[in-house]
Formats: sequence, structure tokens, C-alpha cells
Amino acid sequence: MKIFIALLLVAGAYGQVPPNEIDQHMIKARNAAGTDFTDVLARLCVAPPPIPTTTVERAPSGRAPVIPARDIWYAEPAKVFDNLYFVGSKIHNAWALTSNEGIIILDTIFTYNSEEEIIGGLKKLGLDPAKIKYVIISHAHGDHVGGAKLLQDRYGAKVVMGAPDWDSIEKSKNGYPEGKPKKDIVADDGQKITAGDASVTIVTTPGHTPGTLSMIFQVKDNGKPLTVAYSGGTAFNFPSTVPNFDIYIRSQQKMAAAAAAANATVLMSNHTEFDGAMYKIKLLQLRKPGEPHPFEVGKDAIARYFTTTGECAEAAKLKLQSAAH
Ligand SMILES: [Zn+2]
Repeated sequence: MKIFIALLLVAGAYGQVPPNEIDQHMIKARNAAGTDFTDVLARLCVAPPPIPTTTVERAPSGRAPVIPARDIWYAEPAKVFDNLYFVGSKIHNAWALTSNEGIIILDTIFTYNSEEEIIGGLKKLGLDPAKIKYVIISHAHGDHVGGAKLLQDRYGAKVVMGAPDWDSIEKSKNGYPEGKPKKDIVADDGQKITAGDASVTIVTTPGHTPGTLSMIFQVKDNGKPLTVAYSGGTAFNFPSTVPNFDIYIRSQQKMAAAAAAANATVLMSNHTEFDGAMYKIKLLQLRKPGEPHPFEVGKDAIARYFTTTGECAEAAKLKLQSAAH
């Protein structure tokens, strides 16, 4: 934690906006993050990546996307709740929410690893990928939408996405060298995607992309129902403008309110970095009867998560304003 405080002090040394105003947001973020969300804090508050001023296409024309070695990304699939399975990689999450009438996939991963992790993962877990009914894509970046076309083509699964992200796929010239998913379901705020006894409520949270979707849904832990708040977009790699940060900040507040209203106590994300999926799955395997589920962080921690992302965005916005002077 000391290193964060030191970095926060250094990061506060900015121009026109009084530095302590930036610091105040970073300190609020740090206090909200506590020891639960240090990776979120590190990524968003301490060392945000260079922010592009225009949207970047993921796979430039004529150049094959770089595929990392398998041992960089491969992760074993795992059962996480009675009706929720991890079928992602070491870096990116994909989830299978099961029901008595089919499977809902929450996010896919890249084109190069969706076949092995999602389809292969389901089979390893004893689940039938032909039962996939819906694929909800939090946002149309290559690390989450990569497997959508595959699941659509092979199993006739319906792909659900926000309208602006469907548009970005349609407009993309080079982002889908292996073909684009065809437009299926355009998600609305509050819409429920239902398969049998599983239902996912969409919360539109523009910011990370204009069409980013977050979600609220129920899982069961040894029969006990728990509500999940699923954050669909986290990093600030959107065109760096004050209005875009304002949109992002409003969405953090909106999702915090939706999570609180639903009494969510489980936090999930599409990046293992942000929800700790990799180590929580390991902890789950060591869990003894009666111990809490590692993904169940509680209502207060979920509120603190969205305070962390929102306050880091406030600080980044002020830095941007101060750099513009
Ligand atoms: Zn993204």
C-alpha cells in the first residue's frame, strides 16, 4: 500500500487544476479500493495507459493478429457456482450461466482462443455447447467479441450487444479478418435475457465503449441464491475527452445504484485483473464447508469497486483538463 501512496503523491503533480483536487479523487479511490481492488486502482489511477485520441482498430489490414503462446493465456475451465462456470483465459473472462433450458454465455474472448477455452471448456465441464442460446457481449473489443461469430455460426446462438457496438462492428474495416458476427439482438437498458430459469438483466453503461453493457443476474452457491454485479467495461482506452469521462463516470454511478438496488454481493468482470477471477478460482478449490465463497465480496465492497473506478475517472478527467491549459 505504501507504494500506492507514494505514486499518488507523484501523480498529483499536475498543472492548472489545483493538484490537491486531483489528489483528493485519487485518495478517495485509494480508500475505496482498500485491499480488495488494488489492481483496479493500479490500472486506472496510478498507471493509466497512454490514452488514444481516436479509436484504434485492433487488427491492422494485411497483418495477422499476433497470437501469444498458449501457455501465456490458457486456463482450465472451472465450476464457480452451482449454475455458473468459468470458460475464460488467464487474462480474459468468459462465463457460462446454465439453466434448465440452455446456456447463456457472458462474453467471449479472442477469436484464437474461444474454440479451446469456451467450447473445449464447456465439454471438459460436461456441458453441451450446442445448448448455448444467448451470447451477451459486454462490448465489441477483440478480447471479448472474438468468439461471438463462432458460437453464432456453429450453434445458432443469438448474440446480444449494445446498439453503438453493433454499429462499430458494421463500420469496422479491418477489425474482423475472420468475419463479423451478424447483427442479432440489440440490447436495451433493463432488458432481460432469459433462458429457462436463468435470467440476466442488462444495465447499459456507456463509457469504455459507447455501447458497453453491464449485467445483474442470480447464481446459486450450494443452493443459496446470490446476486452478481457484472461490470462490462473498465479501462479508459476510449477517445480521451472530458465528455467521454463524464459518460464513464455516470455509468459507474448508475451501475453502483443498480447493484445496490439488486442487493448484489458478488462482483464479476470480463478481465481477471479486475475481479481476481484466477486466484479466486484457486481459493474456491481450497474452500472448506461453511467458508464464504471467494467471489462473494459483499454489498459494501461492490459499492467501493464503483467508487474506485468513478474516482479514478474523475482524477483522469481533471488531469486532462489541466493538460489542456
Ligand atoms: Zn475493452
